Parts: sequence; structure tokens; C-alpha cells
Amino acid sequence: MSKIACGIDLGGTKLEVGLVDDNGNIIARVKRPTHAHEGPESVIDKINDSIMTALEKSNIKQRDLRGIGIGVPGLIDADMGKVIFLTNLPGWRDIPLAEIMEEKFHIPVKLGNDADAAAYGEYLFGSGRGARNFVYMTVSTGIGGGVIIEGKLYRGASSGAAEIGHVVIDVHGEKCNCGNYGCFEALASGTAIARFAKRAIDRGRHSLIEELSGDEPIKAEHVFEAAGQGDRLALDIIDEEAFYLGIGICNIMAMYNPERIAIGGGVSNQWDMFYHKMMETVRDRALKQNAKVCRVIKAELGTDAGVVGAAALII
Ligand SMILES: [Zn+2]
Repeated sequence: MSKIACGIDLGGTKLEVGLVDDNGNIIARVKRPTHAHEGPESVIDKINDSIMTALEKSNIKQRDLRGIGIGVPGLIDADMGKVIFLTNLPGWRDIPLAEIMEEKFHIPVKLGNDADAAAYGEYLFGSGRGARNFVYMTVSTGIGGGVIIEGKLYRGASSGAAEIGHVVIDVHGEKCNCGNYGCFEALASGTAIARFAKRAIDRGRHSLIEELSGDEPIKAEHVFEAAGQGDRLALDIIDEEAFYLGIGICNIMAMYNPERIAIGGGVSNQWDMFYHKMMETVRDRALKQNAKVCRVIKAELGTDAGVVGAAALII
């Protein structure tokens, strides 16, 4: 029996543990709320419990695990296996997570930034298979990314490489969560789509988006749904979104010259609504010699990217 890797997708609202084989198949998974407000100790207990539950469910022995990979949503020191700081999980500051888990399970534990992990998972088992130079970007609440150069995950000097979401694409643009202005994420994330819609409606534009969102805050999904029904404002916003995504891709092509770029995250589920316009921008603006060798495709692993990618850190 081939050895199994354990992948953990640690999120602010939910955590997911998966046992993954050498081909990237998830054999067992356990998903539960993180209850991040209870603090690191309690969250680590939940991770450990979930691993045990997954082992029991699948009849796999602890000794058959080759290691544990953890995708972490924030700042880490991958070499030291340490969590430096997490915005969405209170109390996580300078936690030697790999060491704590190694003491419990006696197998190697590796940490990766969650977007890096997803990129590596896509590279091994999904949209990046066979591409030596590959960039994965995820567009959802924010925009993140991971870069594979010559077959290796590129982390940078302090695990901060490929912060694609914070490449500035409009120097006079919207303020970003990072403190800068006009970042890719501030203009093209799902959050940005919702913000543009809300602002236009507050200023008196009439739109189906209002009806679709009802009493809820406006979300990107409402905008896509309204656009699907031909709503003018929604169509304008999606057009703008596609344009910004295209500009972001031009930048990625210029920086890394990959042969493939894959887009994942919630927004990528609306592929047909933005793909054409996005590629039109790429054709108009990208460096020709770099664009010629690059395919832009939808990521393949979907919501499994987190778990499979974390396991890939070990595989
Ligand atoms: Zn930023």
C-alpha cells in the first residue's frame, strides 16, 4: 500500500483534513468549523481530533501516514514550520505549529501559505500538470497566488513571493487592505465586485442586483446572477472585472513567463462570463512573446485545492 499524506486546509471559518494518496485522490476527509475565537490551542486540538477521525473513517493506520502538510491563511516561516501571524484567526502569533504536531504524530509536518499549497496541488494533480513554469491565482474574497518555477514552488526570501493580489494595477486606485492603493485585489476580487455594485446602487443606479440580494449585503454572486439576466449595471461591472483580470494576467506573464496560468477561487466558477473579455485584454496588452507560449485556463481542483495542495507539500 502506498503511503498516504495528510493535508490540512486551515481557514478562519472552517478547517478541513484530508487523507490523500500519491495520485492526489482524497481517500477520507473531515470538515468542521474552526471556531477560531477559541484560540490556537483549541484549534490545534480540533486539527488533531480531525486527523484521528479521518484515520478511523478510512481504516488507515497512523504509521501509514508519510507526513502532514498544512495550508495556512497568512504569514508563515515555512523553513521553521512556524506561523508568524494570521489575520483571520485571533491569537496566532509565533506559533511553532510544525513542531507541536510533530511531537504528537512523530511524522514530518510542513507548513505552506494556503495559496502556495493550492498552486502546488494544481501543479502536481490538476491544471498545472506537465507545465514546468506555472502560475496559479485564486480570485475570491481576495486574490492570492502561487508560482512554480522550473518545477519548484517559489517562495521567496520570507515566504512572501507571488503576492499577486498586491501588485498595483492602478496607482490612483482604491485603497487596499494592505494599506497600498490600486492593488489587483482591491479592484478585481469578489469583494471588489460587490463593493462596486453597492456603490453604484447607493448613488442611485437601478439594478436587479438590489432585488437579488434582498436584505443581505450584496455579494459578487448577486452581480454575476444579475449579469446573467442581462442587467446593465451588472454587465458593466463584470466587463470591468474581466478587464482588470486581463491586466493582472499581463503582469504575471511579464514577470514569470509561465507556459500556463490557472485561475481558481469562487469567481472562476463564472468563467464564461469574463473569459472572452479577459483574453481580449491579454491579446491587446500582454508582451507578445510571453503571451504566445502561455495558456490561461480554469483551475481543476476546485474546493479540493486546499486539502490536496496541503498534502502535496508532503508528496
Ligand atoms: Zn494590497
